[in-house]
Amino acid sequence: MSHAFCAELEARLVRYVQVETTSDEASSTAPSTAAQVDLQRMLEHELHQIGAQDVLLAENGFLYATLPATTTKTVPRVALLAHVDTVAGVGEGPVKPRVHRRYDGAPIVFPDDELLVLMPEINPYLGKKLGHDIITASGGTLLGADDKAGVAILMTLARHLLAHPELAHGELRLCFTPDEEIGVGIRHIDLSRLAADFAYTLDGGEVGEIVYETFSADKATVSITGVSTHPGRAKAKLVNALQLAGRIMTALPHTHLTPETTDARQGFLHLYKLEGAAAACTMHFILRDFEEEKLAEYARLLESVCADVRTSEPRARIVCRITPQYRNMRDRLQQDMRPVTYAVDVLKAMGIAPLSPPIRGGVDGSQLTAMGVPTPNLFTGMQNIHSPLEWISVQDMETAVKALIALVQRWAQ
Ligand SMILES: [Zn+2]
Repeated sequence: MSHAFCAELEARLVRYVQVETTSDEASSTAPSTAAQVDLQRMLEHELHQIGAQDVLLAENGFLYATLPATTTKTVPRVALLAHVDTVAGVGEGPVKPRVHRRYDGAPIVFPDDELLVLMPEINPYLGKKLGHDIITASGGTLLGADDKAGVAILMTLARHLLAHPELAHGELRLCFTPDEEIGVGIRHIDLSRLAADFAYTLDGGEVGEIVYETFSADKATVSITGVSTHPGRAKAKLVNALQLAGRIMTALPHTHLTPETTDARQGFLHLYKLEGAAAACTMHFILRDFEEEKLAEYARLLESVCADVRTSEPRARIVCRITPQYRNMRDRLQQDMRPVTYAVDVLKAMGIAPLSPPIRGGVDGSQLTAMGVPTPNLFTGMQNIHSPLEWISVQDMETAVKALIALVQRWAQ
């Protein structure tokens, strides 16, 4: 029996992207914007309709649901997650999705911005999607396939699994999360409510992606307190904190070990903010690498530069503080690679080459993995995210649904 999910996926994505769900970094509430709850309410209703169990929309904007086990075997509990928010700052106004049916390879134009054009010459992946149904926005906004494609894929999967109890899988947990784009959402997840041994986020790009390597990340602040006096009577008394910050900056590498001089598996030490005045100032750094030992090396380098400046100007107070942010999930996953190997097995059986590019950033899965739930990130098909040129192939989303149907059964074998 063959299943076609394209019509359902298209209808869901088109419906979900029209609900505005931008998250807001400046907000101090959880979720950061009430608009995200509008989509969560819609999903809550749809989950009830398809017969999901334990549907719960929490105060903090997380939506949880259960797909009961269809096997009597003891099987690890797997959670599937997607985020409902979209990134701020890309255009304004409602998203107007457009479906380009049976794509013929011609440049795609956007009615709301004549200067925009999407074409295979610049986006080679689009060139591989001839005959697919491509969804874009209208030019004035992003599409929001990041991550409403993940939401549509999971809702389609859930509807299908609930209608087909003959497909043997363990208990599955669904979780739709807010505020991924501002990096704070996942911290508020209720792990006892998620109740999962392993998880996957559906928030990746091209077909085949199984991401389980990300940066390890620390941040560092260097607080410099000088000695302030009236500048007219400052000789041999004033110690200018900004001068000292300049010396620290100059002593750090600038032809290597910076974001603008590194790529692939190279890490960096990045001064991203300097604030303050002559009396006192603070330098803000991020440290990134795929290897924790390297990260520790960058911290020692920064500390030794601070120590040199401190020695040369003992009247100043220079304090360097390193704070861990997240860790490469590979290190944790290597203890139990099943979430990755099962996904690889499933893709290979479908004739799809698995891709595991190391990600020069963090994902929600990095934090979930650090919290004890190993969580690789799987493809949805989304492309050109955080841009008005964002697009997705409906057939790529269908491949994701089919891969997940096989994957949940693989866990039950
Ligand atoms: Zn995303």
